[in-house]
Amino acid sequence: MCGSVVVVWDFDRTIINDDSDRWVITQMGLTPLFNQLRHTMPWTSLMDRMMEELHSQGITANDIAHCLKTLPFHPSLISAIKSAHALGCDLRIISDANSFYIDTILEHHGLSGCFSQVNTNPAFVDKQGRLRITPFHHPTLSPHACPLCPPNMCKGLVIDQIRDSLPENQRRRFIYIGDGTGDYCPTLKLKEGDFVMPRKDYPLWNRICSDPKLVNAKVHGWSNGEELETTLSNLISAN
Ligand SMILES: [Mg+2]
Ligand SMILES: [Zn+2]
Repeated sequence: MCGSVVVVWDFDRTIINDDSDRWVITQMGLTPLFNQLRHTMPWTSLMDRMMEELHSQGITANDIAHCLKTLPFHPSLISAIKSAHALGCDLRIISDANSFYIDTILEHHGLSGCFSQVNTNPAFVDKQGRLRITPFHHPTLSPHACPLCPPNMCKGLVIDQIRDSLPENQRRRFIYIGDGTGDYCPTLKLKEGDFVMPRKDYPLWNRICSDPKLVNAKVHGWSNGEELETTLSNLISAN
């Protein structure tokens, strides 16, 4: 039944209620440095700089992982993800966080096996033990030329790549779930028969409401984990 549905998830403020970058900054006492540098460099470089600071203080990648595991995770999201996966939906993430944060959090909550693909900024621990965060799209080798998106990631381009990678004979219905301005570009890539689930009163929702005619997908808002779970389950079973 659900085999023909691709559910694409944003991560921060969608799968988790918080923002993982902000969580680490706040919990690790980096707010003053973050505020000092936030307007001087692109987001991914800024997060990489934050990791340099932690490394210089002797804080290890394990310590950062531990910090991520303390981040609250709504039980409705766990059941929403597990049941969509159990029904045979193809679940994917497109996120401007990074692979270390996302993998750590998903694994901690037993959700790693539910997603067929995580598209995000690649992170790795270097020889010195410092966590490095690098851009998803290389800014100089492959600029994406999308005016809606930051240089390191155009989520709409990723939606196109996912659609192109699916077998042509099977029409797949997309359900896109997100909250932020970065989720508007992929929303515009959705077609008739697809669904978008914006978090109510967050930037994506406001953007869609400002000119609903631009969006081909049907719009179903949600305000909390319970509503997200119920809405998603209804959309999947109506398919
Ligand atoms: Mg988000
Ligand atoms: Zn874009």
